[in-house]
Amino acid sequence: MGKDDEYRGHNRLDADDVRPSRTPNDITTWIRNQDLSEADLPYIHSLLAESFADWLEEGEEFPWLAGCPIALLHPDGTAAAHSAEGPGLFPPDWNAKAIGTTAASAALQSCRPALIRSEEHAFAAFKPYDTLAVPLFTRNSGLLLGVLVCLMPAGQAQAGELKLLQAAALHLRSCFYRQFELLLIGDYVRSRELAGKEERRSILLFDAIRRLNDRIDVEHVLSEVLGILEQVYPFCRTDLFLSQDYSSTNEKVKPLAFRQEMDICWKAFVDGEMREESDGKNRRIALPLAGKQGVYGILLLNVPEEEFDDADKRFVAMLTSGAGTAFEKAKLHEQANALVGELRLINKLTQRLNSSLRLKETMAFATQELLDIFKADCCFILQLDSFKTRFTVIASNVPEMTAEAFAADYGFCGVMLSTKEPIILSDYRHASPVRSRIMDETRSRSLIASPLLINGDVIGAVLVAHRQPNHFSYDNYKLLQVLAAHLGLAVSNATLHAELRRMVITDNLTGLFARHYLNERIQRRQLRDGSGALILLDIDHFKKINDTFGHQVGDAILMQVSGIVRSAIRDSDIAARWGGEELAIYLPQLGLEQALRIAERIRKQVEEETDPKVTVSCGVSQWTKNDGRISVESLFYRADMALYVAKRKGRNSVAVG
Ligand code: GH3
Ligand code: MG
Ligand code: MG
Repeated sequence: MGKDDEYRGHNRLDADDVRPSRTPNDITTWIRNQDLSEADLPYIHSLLAESFADWLEEGEEFPWLAGCPIALLHPDGTAAAHSAEGPGLFPPDWNAKAIGTTAASAALQSCRPALIRSEEHAFAAFKPYDTLAVPLFTRNSGLLLGVLVCLMPAGQAQAGELKLLQAAALHLRSCFYRQFELLLIGDYVRSRELAGKEERRSILLFDAIRRLNDRIDVEHVLSEVLGILEQVYPFCRTDLFLSQDYSSTNEKVKPLAFRQEMDICWKAFVDGEMREESDGKNRRIALPLAGKQGVYGILLLNVPEEEFDDADKRFVAMLTSGAGTAFEKAKLHEQANALVGELRLINKLTQRLNSSLRLKETMAFATQELLDIFKADCCFILQLDSFKTRFTVIASNVPEMTAEAFAADYGFCGVMLSTKEPIILSDYRHASPVRSRIMDETRSRSLIASPLLINGDVIGAVLVAHRQPNHFSYDNYKLLQVLAAHLGLAVSNATLHAELRRMVITDNLTGLFARHYLNERIQRRQLRDGSGALILLDIDHFKKINDTFGHQVGDAILMQVSGIVRSAIRDSDIAARWGGEELAIYLPQLGLEQALRIAERIRKQVEEETDPKVTVSCGVSQWTKNDGRISVESLFYRADMALYVAKRKGRNSVAVG
């Protein structure tokens, strides 16, 4: 019978039996009340043998048995033990049932003492003997525990001997129950130890879970769980592998990478179940750090086999499960915080971007914000022209590169123009798909960049760079993408607005300013300046030109004259189409004489350069701050009067009003 089959009293004790509050008296009573059940009987061979050995040792008190072979049979009839007396009388396969007719067999069947005299045995070695057999019963349940068999030389066994054997059997039963109780006590002590250990673990676990949830902080959870394991299992090596791009300051936290020796970690990670393997001396246990939403990493324990039992396994499993939940909670909290922060930021930026339609101003602001958000060294916002030939820097914190332009297919902007995808680059120096002047000249190594898209069309790009490699996180890259959508809209809005304004203040045919814009500008200058002059210009006999050459040629003449006017004036002068074939030129801070000179120059140039040739008449007027009444109307009125005079003079001339 194998060791595992032997009776060891296990399973008799439940948690209540070993609870610490039990008094020694309770325990004694409890032990006394314990007995064997029918189910225990097949497993009591060794207990019988041990009891028999004890009994034999103490049996010197039974001198009348000296020299008599004596055996203890198991209830199944096999010999559990026998005395050393009379070798050969009890051969190894000696079995009361095999002998069949012996007193032992009778006692086994009847459960009563039996005495058979001068028995003839089938075994040749046996002489006629008297056989005595006495059954032993369990103390409370009255089950047959065994049969004590004694052989005596024929004629020696009398009723008295049988009584003596009964007394010996009682003694043997005491020895048996002493062994039985010892077993129970051993078991009890072991269970108490285990219960104590479990209790300490429970307290520890409770405390650990409380500490894990103390602060909603990912780093705190990681260091707590590692700290607790270190404290409880100082002999064990612990590593924590995290699957996400989480950079912990804890040196025991490493990224979960695929390597052969990490096999059980991967299995545990994929299944979300504890995995273990052993080389006989050490056990490696991979525990998933998991929450409700997924597995975040693996805790790998390396423990000496003998130091780690099932209770320890349960403990670390529960600890990791608690840590997984706390980790998830902290991570979600962090993510929520980051999201709230990002939303605030987006909100602030878009509000600001929408508050002004001045492109340069808003983009300069956005540049500063982006530098701030990403703790970056430089930032560039570029706009692609409508022909998609050049990217021009419209805002940057690098003064040397503002207004710089690049061919549309050059550098990272070129990549983004063709892929329409954002870029994250950890080290430009070691792994760059393209060369970039922006990166070279700013000596940058990390980059996040995003195209500015409107309706799926690239209209520009934003580049944020840092001199250190690996500066930007994946979250930075995602955030820039979101911000780029708003930047794109802002650039597009500002550009559209500028275009619209240009259209509103420009005359379509001549490209000169529109009349209302000229009025506005003169009004503003009259508030600011001390003087200014106005030239009103009208093409002579224009009706005739139209009649002779047609309206299209008339239009062309009008454009030729406008071109001459534009080339004849300064950038600060404002030329507008006043109406029909009349143009007006305002010359800020110029006096009458200078204005006359310019008018004369234009008149002459028109006469010489137009084809078909036309002439113009000009009326010139001026205002100074000494005038009684300063207004746009009076300035125009006087110029108009002068123009009338010029026409009256015979046209192709200049007059002053
Ligand atoms: P003058 O000024 O010398 O007295 O003679 P005029 O023939 O130029 O007379 P007026 O200024 O009264 O006539 C203006 C003409 O210019 C009327 C119109 O046919 C023509 N005109 C006005 N606007 C345009 C234009 O946009 N395109 C063309 N082709 N002709 C225009
Ligand atoms: Mg006219
Ligand atoms: Mg005219």
